[in-house]
Amino acid sequence: MASNGKPSGRRKFALALHGGAGMLRRGPNATGTELPYRVIMEQALDHGWILLEQGACACDCVAEVIKILEAAPLFNAGRGSVLTSDGRIEMDAAIMCGKTHRAGAVAAVEGVRHPIELAYRILLDDRFVLLSGNGARAFAEQVGIDFADPEWFITEHRIQELSAAQSAGEITLDHEKFGTVGAVALDCDGNLAAGTSTGGLTNKSFGRVGDSPLIGCGTYADNETCAVSCTGYGEHFIRHVVAHDLASRMRYGKASLHEAADAIIYQRLAPAKALGGLIAIDRKGNISMPFNTNALFRATRDTKGKTTVAIFDS
Ligand code: ASP
Repeated sequence: MASNGKPSGRRKFALALHGGAGMLRRGPNATGTELPYRVIMEQALDHGWILLEQGACACDCVAEVIKILEAAPLFNAGRGSVLTSDGRIEMDAAIMCGKTHRAGAVAAVEGVRHPIELAYRILLDDRFVLLSGNGARAFAEQVGIDFADPEWFITEHRIQELSAAQSAGEITLDHEKFGTVGAVALDCDGNLAAGTSTGGLTNKSFGRVGDSPLIGCGTYADNETCAVSCTGYGEHFIRHVVAHDLASRMRYGKASLHEAADAIIYQRLAPAKALGGLIAIDRKGNISMPFNTNALFRATRDTKGKTTVAIFDS
């Protein structure tokens, strides 16, 4: 999407992205295995940062960052998404603008190369918030969104994961990372946006919808409080309405971003054995990224331009 063309001047902007939370084993070759993830996260961060520097709005930035992550087969979004119990890929995505509270989302959509782009087109169209399945597909055809064949999306790794999950009789595997992707941004006009894109959980039922496309659960943005993108076992994030709960703690409870984000992840979700994490940003550009798994694939660039790229908790 095009930037608004305004120079960024001295206004502050900031960006954070994630590539999913998870419980990962750290083998002897961990550094080598982590490298490709770090490279893609940094590429996405750099691309988003250039857009913000050029004066792009937070929504454009978030959508473009997520498109890079969706195209990389390493993450559980777009290409490389996990498989349903019947061996297909059904994807969820959402994007929300913190200034206008307009939002666009897709659920259980098949064959769309960039579900976040489709979600963004729904936001811009502004008649609906969430389209699912065949309805989402029909809308995508109308607006000329790119499709790809199943072979483009399905990787060998995901086929093996599905077969392991099915042998164990599980919806997902404990040692596996969830792998959803997301981004949150503050643009030079002081506006916030959040987006999330995912293939969901390995071996999920067809038609299952997770937290990511549900506004207030896995994705939320509000200029007065924060922008949030979640990752984890979606059913818990839906039950706890996590993203909106974070914003509400700030709005009504006057909590800081860090206090609110930590309280949800460590005091609310962890005791309920609800695994996952989130990334959140407020209008001052503070960034919070708590997680109760041992890893969260994440990258940030703060208002001073300081970059961090990390996977594990320490
Ligand atoms: N939250 C996603 C879902 O349940 C999964 C993930 O975060 O990887 O669909």
